[in-house]
Amino acid sequence: MPTSNYPDTKLLIANEWVDAAGGKTLDVVNPATGRVIGKVAHAEKPDLDRALAAAREGFDAWRNLTAHERAATMRRAAGLLRERAEGIARLLTLEQGKPFAEARGETLAGAALIEWFADEGQRVYGRIVPSRNSAAMQFVIKEPVGPVAAFTPWNFPINQVVRKLGPALAAGCSVLCKAPEETPASPAALLQTFVDAGVPPGVVGLVYGVPAEISGYLIPHPTIRMVTFTGSIPVGKQLAAMAGANMKRVTMELGGHAPVIIADDADLDLAVAVSSKAKFRNAGQVCISPTRFLVHRGVVDEFTQAFVRYAESLKLGDGLAQDTTLGPLANPRRVAAMASVVDDARRRGATVLTGGERVGAAGNFYAPTVIAGLTTEADLFNKEPFGPVAGIRPFDSLGEAIAEANRLAYGLSAYAFTRSFKNVQTLLHGIEAGMVWINQAATPSAELPFGGVKDSGYGSEGGPEAVETYLNSKAASVVGV
Ligand code: NAD
Repeated sequence: MPTSNYPDTKLLIANEWVDAAGGKTLDVVNPATGRVIGKVAHAEKPDLDRALAAAREGFDAWRNLTAHERAATMRRAAGLLRERAEGIARLLTLEQGKPFAEARGETLAGAALIEWFADEGQRVYGRIVPSRNSAAMQFVIKEPVGPVAAFTPWNFPINQVVRKLGPALAAGCSVLCKAPEETPASPAALLQTFVDAGVPPGVVGLVYGVPAEISGYLIPHPTIRMVTFTGSIPVGKQLAAMAGANMKRVTMELGGHAPVIIADDADLDLAVAVSSKAKFRNAGQVCISPTRFLVHRGVVDEFTQAFVRYAESLKLGDGLAQDTTLGPLANPRRVAAMASVVDDARRRGATVLTGGERVGAAGNFYAPTVIAGLTTEADLFNKEPFGPVAGIRPFDSLGEAIAEANRLAYGLSAYAFTRSFKNVQTLLHGIEAGMVWINQAATPSAELPFGGVKDSGYGSEGGPEAVETYLNSKAASVVGV
């Protein structure tokens, strides 16, 4: 598989790929080698003004198509994404680091999401409401909210754009996306499929630059009617506040710190197989990654030994190498964050059972790490690690485990393993999270809501709820004369 041929990325404005007006660019680095592999155009205000004008025109054109015409175009884009999946996945691995198989899986899953939302857009019905006046007919008409500003992160460069684009386009909105500067080429290739599928100019737009400058300009701008962001809780709170001050509708998909509760009656083989694989997917840089392992005292030793064996079986390497099962972290910030969380655990007397160190001098490689003997004061049990580090703590009663699961302000995803239906009921009722997965890995399919509670955000990026987010409800009452 060639490792060169990584393209420079331009801005997408009105279906044209253009350089930034000021000619500025940013470097893109391969996280497996630390070498610069390309450049991305750096937008400034004049570029954003043109992108906003295009988004306005794109919205006017797109909302006036029928839902069936929109669906057909979206399905064409999904088909192109599938056809191009191998090439796009290669770009994704080069810029983000994840193993190629994961990158291809993300791209193909993106196609499936787009198709589901294309169809869902044809089921936006509105309703007829019985009137109190026999001469009047009352309707609720669903209308697209308007041009959307979407801010997406580097951990799933394709999926995170699709989760916004799919429902927004299905609802009839245009989307101006600020995708991640560190992983720009795969989102650009994704948007190219929409251009090639025939979306009118401005329906989709793509910009890169200084994130805070772009959000600070787009969110208050009168053209933008809705804001959607995926990223960290502190940034999400800032953007939500800015959106609130400008009365813009918001979806926030923020961080998580998912508890995994393993009861004494769990199928331990299943619990280990599922949760260890999920923990190290995308090197742990996943908002729904399992991170706080709460294991019943009666089975904690057996679980921990098997979990460590899995961690030690992973093959660290360049994501384009065929035998790699764990790629580098996406950027040097994550390596520093892992070092900090592991040092904190060590200082507090915890035991690093495996890993706990950077690997190699080049690239952002960090060994898969499992830590036991942690107190709940440890950073690892309080701050989202967003990396290949798992912490394990024993518990004595399910109530204690649920209390620990709910102790933090995060509320995105949670996992549990048990064979008892009574435990399942207690867990489903007790856990504060937007998504709960029992005896299985997360399967966030298009048709299920995807989103968090508490500090993990609000709004949904899956299911009919995701499309509803991008719609206004217009009340209409008509008396015939
Ligand atoms: P960060 O918080 O600075 O950035 C996270 C993302 O938000 C990036 O894509 C960045 O470009 C964007 N961003 C940052 N400031 C912004 C602003 N003012 N306006 C618009 N976009 C902005 O930190 P980081 O080092 O890139 O990531 C670290 C943390 O972010 C992780 O520990 C994790 O908690 C969180 N994160 C969460 C997700 C997720 O899927 N929920 C994805 C990526 C990162």
